Amino acid sequence: MSFFNQRRLFRKKEDHSGKKIFSGYPSESPVRIYDRDYWLSDAWDPLSYGKDYDFSKSFFEQFRELLKSVPLMAISAGEHVNSDYCNNVDNVKDCYLCFDGNTSENCHYLVGFSDCRDCMDMYQCGESELCYELFSAVKCFQCYFSSELAECNNIWFSRDCYGCQDCFGCANLKNKKYHIYNQPHTKESYESFIKGQQLNSYTSFTEARKKAKKFLASQPQRYMHGAQNDNVVGEYVYHSHNVEFSYQGNEMEDVKYVQCMGRNLRDCYDYTSWGGAELVYESVNSGFGLSGVMFSFNCADSVSDVEYSAMISSSQHLFGCIGLRNRKYCVLNKQYSESDYFTIRKKIVAQMATILYYDRKGKTYTYGEFFPPEMSPINYKQSLAMDFYPLSDEEIESEGYKTGEVGLKAVKSTIDASELPDKISDAPDVIVNEVIGCDSCKRAYRMIPKELEFLKKHNLPIPRLCPDCRYSERIKDRNPLTWWQRTCMKAGCEKQFKTSFDPTVKAIVYCDTCYEGEVG
Ligand SMILES: [Zn+2]
Ligand SMILES: [Zn+2]
Repeated sequence: MSFFNQRRLFRKKEDHSGKKIFSGYPSESPVRIYDRDYWLSDAWDPLSYGKDYDFSKSFFEQFRELLKSVPLMAISAGEHVNSDYCNNVDNVKDCYLCFDGNTSENCHYLVGFSDCRDCMDMYQCGESELCYELFSAVKCFQCYFSSELAECNNIWFSRDCYGCQDCFGCANLKNKKYHIYNQPHTKESYESFIKGQQLNSYTSFTEARKKAKKFLASQPQRYMHGAQNDNVVGEYVYHSHNVEFSYQGNEMEDVKYVQCMGRNLRDCYDYTSWGGAELVYESVNSGFGLSGVMFSFNCADSVSDVEYSAMISSSQHLFGCIGLRNRKYCVLNKQYSESDYFTIRKKIVAQMATILYYDRKGKTYTYGEFFPPEMSPINYKQSLAMDFYPLSDEEIESEGYKTGEVGLKAVKSTIDASELPDKISDAPDVIVNEVIGCDSCKRAYRMIPKELEFLKKHNLPIPRLCPDCRYSERIKDRNPLTWWQRTCMKAGCEKQFKTSFDPTVKAIVYCDTCYEGEVG
């Protein structure tokens, strides 16, 4: 995880043109970068960086040198139209600051998404349209500030609802309409209630959200979020079978310790982001047609039998390679014949057991482990690991991770968030020219014209937090990537389960049976 920059963009010098461009790698990173289009062209040859394997040196040391020399693609993007400020995306159009997703149009500030249209500020969502501030939602339309929704329409401040329409502040409902705080209403009384909430004003909106949050906290939750699973210990897992200790994923079978997945995964172990793979082990930010990939990062698109490699596509039988496309039988970016490849690979694996790599903490690395964390192209705070396991500077140092700050640029604000108009209708179009000081972190941010247009269309107040703080708020209620053995909290039930609900956090956690009894 410490190798995966999921959602940050930096400005870094491009090695071909010398110009500063946006990149997933920070300026201080020792890696070299090429602009995506140049990287994908035939104008350069990654094999020209090939090296003979030196059996007197550790493998990891030699890989580290290669990682400093072979240029990486500045951002990982497949097809994208007018979506320059996105990373780890494919098939996106008119998207802005969207990360780790695909097949979406006209979306802003999304992380972990697929098939979304006209959505903003969402995390782990799919097949949704005209939605705002959702966490974990699928097939939703015009839903707001809610989590764990499926096939819902016009929902506000709700959690764990399925097939519902026009509900406000509800939890654990199935196929319901016109409900407020889990109570049924007529169409007329529901509509007049919504009108009375004045959700277009920041003040009344904040009040309404607070009240709904309080109600949701009083409602029980299932010990794991998921649906249509069989034999699963996990969290946010759907349509899966034989899964253990895994977090976020769809259509998975026979996997353990996998996290942040899209869909379609079989026989994988210890793998973070993003799916479409089988037989993957100890790898990160890789997917789509992967088979037999181990100890690798940023590999995609028909890659098989590849070990200790980075940014590989459409290739097979590689060891310790970087940036190769349509290649076979290479070691450290050097081409071998088929038989020589398998001979040298065997020799290297044996050599790795005798010539170890020592990291700065004196920890040793050999064949069978992922790269030492200090070799990551990004520092710990810039990586996904920080989102799941926030560490202090001292802990980052003592664990041997790469130290350093996130490195966000400081810009002077022209207006404080508290000075923004209360009602969206009072916000002039020129507000997009202002540099707003975030209510929480005080860092400056801007709204783009499309964002203002979205808020006006939905009649919602301008958020007073910067996109980064909004993201942090959104994932605050997300369960941690840690497991506890707990007992059902329904009086009289003693059923035990493994759950990612932290026992020190106030939440009413029920077993499957007791939860089903609560669903209205
Ligand atoms: Zn902020
Ligand atoms: Zn129970």
